[in-house]
Amino acid sequence: MPNDHDSHLDALLTKMKSAASPLRDTLRELHSKYQSAGEGKVADYIPELANADPDWFGISVVSVDRRKIKVGESDQPFTIQSVSKPFVFGMALEDHGREEVLEKIGVQPIGEAFNSITLDETSNRPFNPMINAGAIAATDLIAGKDFPDRVRRMLAMFRRYCGREVFVDNSVFSSERATGHRNRAIAHLMLNFGMLSDRLEDTLELYFQQCSIMITAKDLAVMGATLANGGVNPLTGERALDAEYVKDLLSVMQTCGMYDYAGEWAYRVGIPAKSGVGGGIVAVVPGQVGIGTFSPPLDMKGNSVRGIKACQDLAEQFGLHVFNADGCRDSLLSQFNPNGSN
Ligand code: GLU
Repeated sequence: MPNDHDSHLDALLTKMKSAASPLRDTLRELHSKYQSAGEGKVADYIPELANADPDWFGISVVSVDRRKIKVGESDQPFTIQSVSKPFVFGMALEDHGREEVLEKIGVQPIGEAFNSITLDETSNRPFNPMINAGAIAATDLIAGKDFPDRVRRMLAMFRRYCGREVFVDNSVFSSERATGHRNRAIAHLMLNFGMLSDRLEDTLELYFQQCSIMITAKDLAVMGATLANGGVNPLTGERALDAEYVKDLLSVMQTCGMYDYAGEWAYRVGIPAKSGVGGGIVAVVPGQVGIGTFSPPLDMKGNSVRGIKACQDLAEQFGLHVFNADGCRDSLLSQFNPNGSN
């Protein structure tokens, strides 16, 4: 007998499989339901973000078995911003191994702003790789023989996740660099405590570049599907992340991915996700799909208003929460002796 969770999942995959694609209808319904949501404010700390059209709204889902659905402005390019953070953390893990990375970056959620100038007082580490301090420390760990090589490796990593070449928007990059004083302060604080290498200027350049990569909601869905698929891009078959580290990324996304809404997101939506001030959200349903949403107006915590609503509805409709009562029992229960004697 399939349990509730399995039947929810089957429902999701069946919806994607059928020729009429009921999932597309569901996404279209969600799109029109929330298109008129007028709440939120487009990020305006640099002109390039302030110029975004507040009506843009795209939702895209890509499955581990290569099916793709997109509605609305899913092909509209925008800057990845903080959605880049888990992926760069993954690269740091691949380049240095878990133990070395954990000496420099914690995995502890904090109830402070993503750009707070704070380190753990006992270890001097940034609390986690999803806040700016931890993200800059992760960027510092990107290996390469020189700066261009580090840029090249970072872009190649994002190319593997997206399944296409990615580019840095130079105008956003220049603005991020020109206004990034707080990030510089964070980097200097970490340098002071020996948590950052002396390549500080290069690392900041690289960090501003990673935030300025142009992606789409469809790309985010492919990136999410790659994590859902154990690190292999389901559309290209190319490995983007060592399978060993997939759970590291998903764990920090689950606990720290949605700014100061992370706990509530984990409670209400219950799937690993990361958002950025460009208006993007990537969410992962392990073993099944990646979800990418894009809509620039942000709530007070910095998350896309429409993106949150759409993901929340999808999670409810299809029982996606990782702790859904029946979903997490299966694997261990099936390991007991089937005749019931133990
Ligand atoms: N470039 C931004 C910063 O470092 C990222 C903001 C975000 O998406 O959280 O401040």
